[in-house]
Amino acid sequence: NCLQYRQMHLLKNQAYVNGQWVKAGSNVVFSVNNPADDSVITEVPDMDASDAKNAIQAAASTFETWKNTTAKERSQILRRWFNLCEKNTDELAKIITAESGKPLAEARGEVAYGNSFLEWFADTARHINGEIVPSPWPNKQILLTRQPVGVVSVITPWNFPFAMITRKVGALMAAGCTCVIKPSEDTPLSALAAAELAEQAGVPTGVINVITTSRKNAPSVGKVMCEDDAVRCISFTGSTQVGKTLYGLAANGVKRVALELGGNAPFIVFPSADIEHALDQAMLAKFRNNGQACIGANRFLIHEDVYDKFVKGFKSRIAQKCILGPGTKEGVTCGPLINNQQAKKVSSLVDDAISKGAKALVGGKFATELGNKYYESTLLINVKQSMSIFTEEVFGPVATCLKISSEDEALKIANSTRSGLAAYVFTKDLGQAFRMSNKLEFGMVAINDGIISAAEPAFGGIKESGIGREGSRHGAEEYTDLKYTLMSCL
Ligand code: ADP
Repeated sequence: NCLQYRQMHLLKNQAYVNGQWVKAGSNVVFSVNNPADDSVITEVPDMDASDAKNAIQAAASTFETWKNTTAKERSQILRRWFNLCEKNTDELAKIITAESGKPLAEARGEVAYGNSFLEWFADTARHINGEIVPSPWPNKQILLTRQPVGVVSVITPWNFPFAMITRKVGALMAAGCTCVIKPSEDTPLSALAAAELAEQAGVPTGVINVITTSRKNAPSVGKVMCEDDAVRCISFTGSTQVGKTLYGLAANGVKRVALELGGNAPFIVFPSADIEHALDQAMLAKFRNNGQACIGANRFLIHEDVYDKFVKGFKSRIAQKCILGPGTKEGVTCGPLINNQQAKKVSSLVDDAISKGAKALVGGKFATELGNKYYESTLLINVKQSMSIFTEEVFGPVATCLKISSEDEALKIANSTRSGLAAYVFTKDLGQAFRMSNKLEFGMVAINDGIISAAEPAFGGIKESGIGREGSRHGAEEYTDLKYTLMSCL
């Protein structure tokens, strides 16, 4: 195993600040483990609040020059970074699989997906336009121009350790901002590998800084990243709970926030739907990344007319297509859960549901022969709305099915959550499709599809799922302020 890790040439064991590969000021390190077998991949610096301050300082002084680069220059730099990530797809994918556990094919998919944001923002950089607005006064012009907000603190999760960075950093660099990135303690290595490629691509010193911290130091480092005077924006993807804490800290300095938080996606199937297609899409919407995705389908609301057919098809697909094992093994489609805490959370939600009357048609337990983080892909029926597994985001390979009997009931149940990220609807009734799109209280609605993410659309949630959008033109505009200049022509 050690040999396997040593052969990864993008594997870094230091943080990246102001163009230097550095240790923590305290010299303390923490280990990054492979969830497939608990082996130690490497150790990285366990940085603290003072390291965070240094990194913010570097980002702040670089901003003074970076903000004056032309959009064309930033576009070219992003394009070079994109090209290098593409060239190094296999190397990046190996690191993603090693630290996050996902199957190699999915890790390669993540590199392509994550990298598409660098390509997109290389293009978008040159189209962050202002406006000239007709003024109410004669001889005066109103100019609205876009200026970069400044230093951005980027805090990212472990489920897409590469893509969650590129879609923030691509956008903020396009806008002319600099950043300090704190990746998840579970997956700092993809971030460091991305930084290495950014350096090779000629991203100027100090534009991108990556500080690594253990979970123990995350609150103190997070506080500095949200409160330091030089920081103008906090861009976070992760749990709703941590998002709320950071939003509170950001309030002290009236900082801009971009928050991508948890979801609790409904997946609604109506009688007119193409059931075979809905089932194929359900497999993707549920089991991608082993259910560890904020837009992952969580609550299957199936119309009574097609319920039995759907459940039967879902059960047999899960039994046949979900192959559990380490992500490096050929043919595996579902890897381990990220850590023991997540594994425990998933299993206790299932156990609780079963104790209250739900039934596992397939799965419902750990695959202990593989290790302590492998949970069987599970289909639960007889689920009730009052169960925690229905009201909480599972973030694991568990599909819960509930029978519905009308469109109104589907809407009512679907909307009865504080989350509002993604929703999926399967119907061939055009009127129904439009009604659902209109009435579902979610930032993103997929009609007859289970995969919605790309660089081109605006990704984001409403209600407690977050603030702001990533991808699309709006993703870059998040990192700009609109400046109003009045030109009085004397
Ligand atoms: P997940 O369930 O995906 O791990 P978390 O919200 O727990 O979601 O973690 C997402 C990111 O937030 C990680 O980088 C984690 O280290 C970081 N984090 C957790 N707690 C804090 C905190 N108090 N301050 C700043 N960052 C934090």
